[in-house]
Amino acid sequence: MVTGTKLPHGTARFYRLRGTRIPKSAKPVASAGIPATEHTGRRGLCDTSNGPMSARIIDGKAVAQQIESEVSSAIATLGFRPGLVAVRVGNDPASEIYVRNKAKKARELGLEGTELVFPETMSEAELLAEVARLNHDDGIDGILVQLPLPKHIDSRKVIDAISPAKDVDGFHPISVGMLHLGRSTLAPCTPAGVIRLIEWTGEAIDGKHAVVIGRSDIVGKPMASLLLARNATVTICHSKTRDLAAVARQADILVAAIGRPILVTADFVKPGAIVIDVGMNRVGSEFAAQIAHDSDKARLLEKNGSVLLGDVDYARVRDLASWITPVPGGVGPMTIAMLMKNTVTAAERRRA
Ligand code: NAD
Repeated sequence: MVTGTKLPHGTARFYRLRGTRIPKSAKPVASAGIPATEHTGRRGLCDTSNGPMSARIIDGKAVAQQIESEVSSAIATLGFRPGLVAVRVGNDPASEIYVRNKAKKARELGLEGTELVFPETMSEAELLAEVARLNHDDGIDGILVQLPLPKHIDSRKVIDAISPAKDVDGFHPISVGMLHLGRSTLAPCTPAGVIRLIEWTGEAIDGKHAVVIGRSDIVGKPMASLLLARNATVTICHSKTRDLAAVARQADILVAAIGRPILVTADFVKPGAIVIDVGMNRVGSEFAAQIAHDSDKARLLEKNGSVLLGDVDYARVRDLASWITPVPGGVGPMTIAMLMKNTVTAAERRRA
């Protein structure tokens, strides 16, 4: 259903999209089968398509389905539908897709998923008032405001205005501080999803040397905190790090969250490392020469005119790593799944 309503101040219109109600009796989705390799008997797919020795693939889609199944089961136990509101301001096409997908996934899993869309002209004061209203709405357990916001709105002020109890993105300074202190909190979804992927391999994190490339507030820094909380020895690298490849080569667990296509080459990887690729970079034909060695990506580029690349040179690194995430199908599916998980956790805590 789509309804247009005046904001309380009467200055701008917003549109509310609400999904069809799912009955409380809705069954949880079926748990995804986790693949086991024939030769190892362990979880993960062993990629032998390009050479004799190859990393096992961490199947993000399967792990995300497992989390979604946990979410549906938790909702069935709760006996009510936790409410998630995704707020978008303006018409950024990427944000449009992200927000729609988040609200849709929420409804699929049995949450009350609502998409709130405001015009680009919305003022900062109006958005802050809307966040305050959502904070006080008892039917809402999770609030996320899709970034980036239009330039005239200070996104920090908006994030700071979200109640930490409903901060399912984990971006509020209180959530960040709690995470840094190693205390229980709603952790940012992408790095929390990475932890689940590593745990799924069955490999220990405790005592390992983890190198995180990237120090953003939404991925790199919380990633480092989460690994540290699990007793990894953590090194954070960034654009000013000297001899990046040499530092990365020390890693037992290497997390690339850079936003630079195939920057992480075989030189960066110690044999046997677990390699997690957070990067999502869409490139065009200017990259044809750089990906000529990767027949799958080269074919996709030729066919579609563009191709999605990670930060890791997958075709070369998979011959060295013990485990690796593909792009797409690795970290990507985890972010929305962890958002749903955070919303259920927020609902459980708020209403305990
Ligand atoms: P960002 O631009 O905020 O941060 C990038 C970080 O990489 C910075 O800390 C910077 O210092 C570092 N960096 C840049 N160039 C470097 C270089 N040459 N050498 C070493 N470090 C360098 O990006 P972000 O928001 O953290 O996202 C990183 C990547 O992860 C992007 O590709 C983004 O699309 C992707 N991402 C994916 C998901 C997902 O769900 N899969 C979620 C968030 C981000």
